Amino acid sequence: MTLKGKSAVVTGSTSGIGLAIARALAGQGCNVMINGFGDPGAIETERAALAAHGVDARHHGADMSKPAEIAAMMAEAAAAFGNVDILVNNAGIQFVSPVEDFPLEKWDAILAINLSSAFHTSRAAIPGMKAQRWGRIINTASAHSLVASPFKSAYVAAKHGIAGLTKTLALELARHGITANCISPGYVWSPLVEKQIPDTMAARGLTREQVIGDVLLAAQPTREFVTVDQVAALALFLCSDAAAQITGANMSMDGGWTAA
Ligand code: NAD
Repeated sequence: MTLKGKSAVVTGSTSGIGLAIARALAGQGCNVMINGFGDPGAIETERAALAAHGVDARHHGADMSKPAEIAAMMAEAAAAFGNVDILVNNAGIQFVSPVEDFPLEKWDAILAINLSSAFHTSRAAIPGMKAQRWGRIINTASAHSLVASPFKSAYVAAKHGIAGLTKTLALELARHGITANCISPGYVWSPLVEKQIPDTMAARGLTREQVIGDVLLAAQPTREFVTVDQVAALALFLCSDAAAQITGANMSMDGGWTAA
């Protein structure tokens, strides 16, 4: 497969799953705009590594909780690349707390970053995709788009929401050569998972080893973490012609978690 001549925006791609997807796309010749926070030097190193594939690789620091910044990023990508053919809505944060103690600002931030940002990017990208009669919208949802876990109210609500948004996009865009799907990983070893271990230890009164073994991997019958490269490989497949009839799907990659 080649994605030469195509261009992508991948939100939340300075780390973890998003970065792996950006690398996979660039590896197939796709121009890519990465997005997210981090050390400027480290981001430039990643950007340069993407550009080494012979593609136009850029970084935009838009905050996915801010609609005006999202619009500016999408406009900049379209201007730089000529079009945004592939949109990967991947930015996401987590916060773990009982509902009655859940900080209001955390609720608002998770809904904004994990759900509403995908609405804002999609509405910006769709006119260009329609004009080309080709597009791919890939949303990183989660096993938590299908099932819940305690203490993750905002995250579970946002992920169920993005699964619904994905289905709606698929129906609206079905006759335009544009597919919309979500990938729903179980636990992927990434900074996002590492960061929630201390809070889960506190919320459940467990040790680090107990959180990894009894909470995280206990959910996955394979007892193995998903890797970022496995998620990226599925995203790449969804960009291929072979995946043209896959739309509105919620594709689990969770070691059997949601089969139980
Ligand atoms: P990560 O923490 O490694 O990466 C998150 C990325 O989002 C980073 O690049 C970060 O800078 C960026 N980001 C955070 N807030 C942002 C904001 N306001 N604006 C712009 N960028 C922002 O996490 P990850 O594990 O790679 O998660 C990526 C996606 O995968 C998330 O949507 C997450 O919910 C989902 N997911 C992760 C797992 C897992 O186990 N790691 C499982 C299922 C789904």
